[in-house]
This record gives sequence, structure tokens and C-alpha cells, in this order.
Amino acid sequence: MNKVILVMIDAQGFETATRRAGFLEHLTEAGLCAKYRVQGGLPSNSRPMYETLMTGVPASEHGVYSNAVVRRSRCENLFSLTRAHGLVNAAAAYGWISELYTGRCPFDLQADRMTLSGCGDICHGIFYIADEYPDSHLYADAEALRLNYHPDFMLVHPMNVDLNGHRFTCASREYNQASEVSFDQIAILFDRWRGDGYDLIVTGDHGMDEWGMHGGNTPLQREVPLYIVSDRVEPGDFTDHAISNLNIAPLVCDLLGIPRGGQMLQTLDIRTREGIRP
Ligand SMILES: [Zn+2]
Repeated sequence: MNKVILVMIDAQGFETATRRAGFLEHLTEAGLCAKYRVQGGLPSNSRPMYETLMTGVPASEHGVYSNAVVRRSRCENLFSLTRAHGLVNAAAAYGWISELYTGRCPFDLQADRMTLSGCGDICHGIFYIADEYPDSHLYADAEALRLNYHPDFMLVHPMNVDLNGHRFTCASREYNQASEVSFDQIAILFDRWRGDGYDLIVTGDHGMDEWGMHGGNTPLQREVPLYIVSDRVEPGDFTDHAISNLNIAPLVCDLLGIPRGGQMLQTLDIRTREGIRP
């Protein structure tokens, strides 16, 4: 059985990840993890990039041009594809993920926080809408979903890095500290996840700049890390060049052993082992 956990750290820029993600950097040095430099798409805003990461489609095609476009996804996505192929999926994520993929829109905290055995694209979700919701609790929500529902694919989506980036900028101690907390949660959970057979992908939706903003077209706003721990992906540091975040959705499909969505890239810039595709 092929299983994947995708951690999407909101506003986790590339340089700060390199500075703060000591455990994943160690795995990369030890030849146990692949590290890529990803140039996220535009606009470098959350909701458009959530949709791009989940569908493998740029904003010009998926149509979620702004955080203010509040509607359900109109594209094949990792949740709909896993569900269609009989896999179980789960998400511990911001309410906007619920809006995009459960069909319950707008998000209603009291009604939609726990969407278990739901009928949208997401099978089991625990959602939050306060940016201050502690990442430690968000990771615990994800682990509760994993232990109770044994998802084949799970999205983990913490928000405190974005929150502190907006308040204090990417150059702040607070932004760095939030990154460190998130990466440490991954280190804490790593043995459980790998022990239960999960491949791990860690990335960001967009970065954060020295003004405490994102949305535009500069490296600080766009460049995010991509760490992949999988026996089916060649380990190493491949950060000398940037690859597109359109690679991530089809990679997840390949790792899960399901066909890629029809609009996804056909050729990936990620070095996978032979025979990974179904
Ligand atoms: Zn933000």
C-alpha cells in the first residue's frame, strides 16, 4: 500500500526553511531525503496556490485568481482523485481548504470544523479558521485523523508561519521561530509516519517578504522548499535550480499509485525511481 503525507506549511519560504529545518536538512545530508527549490506560481497568495498544489494546474487554468474567490474547486484534485480511486484521504487544514474541496462554502466554524465521513472530495477533515490556532495542535489534529481513519493521503496545513510573517516580516525572530516549531513537529512525528509506511512531502504554498507580504513576483515571495522522503524518490540536494510547484500534485499521484489528473504535467522535474508510475 502506497501512502503519502503532504505537509503544506503556509508561507514557508525557501531560505528560512534552510535556516530552520535542521532535521530535514540532516536527512538530506545523510542521503535519506530529496531537497528541491520550488518556484511557486503566481499570484503568490494562499488560496490560488492551495488550488495549484492540489490540482497541479496554474491559476490561469483553475480560475482561483484571488483569496477572495470563495468557491469549490472546479478541477480534478488530490482529494477527488484519491476518492475516485477508492483511497481514503484526510486533511487537517485551514477552512479555505474545506471551502475548496468539501463543497461546504462559505466555511462555518461551528458546523464544519469536524467534517468526518464527509461527502465532498475530503473524506475526513478537521478545520480551523483562526490563524493563531497553534501549529502544535494542528499537527495533533492530523495525527488524530491518521490514527482513527488510516488515510492513504493526508494534507497537514499549519498557519502560524504565515501569521508571524505578516506581523513581523520574514526577517524576524518570530517568523523563524514559527518555522522552527513546525519543522520540529515533523521531527516529532517522523518515526510514527515512516513506521506506518507513509512517504513524506514537505513544502510551502508561497513565501514571505521583508515587508511581511506575499502575492507578487519576487524570490522571497515565491521560492519555497520541497523535501521528499520516499524510497521511490532519489535522495539528494537539487536546489541549484528551481522547479515549478506544478510538479507536486502529479508526484503525489505517482507515489500513491493512481493515475495523474488529466490536466497535470506529464513529465516531472523530480528524480523518481524506475517503475513508480502505475
Ligand atoms: Zn499570508
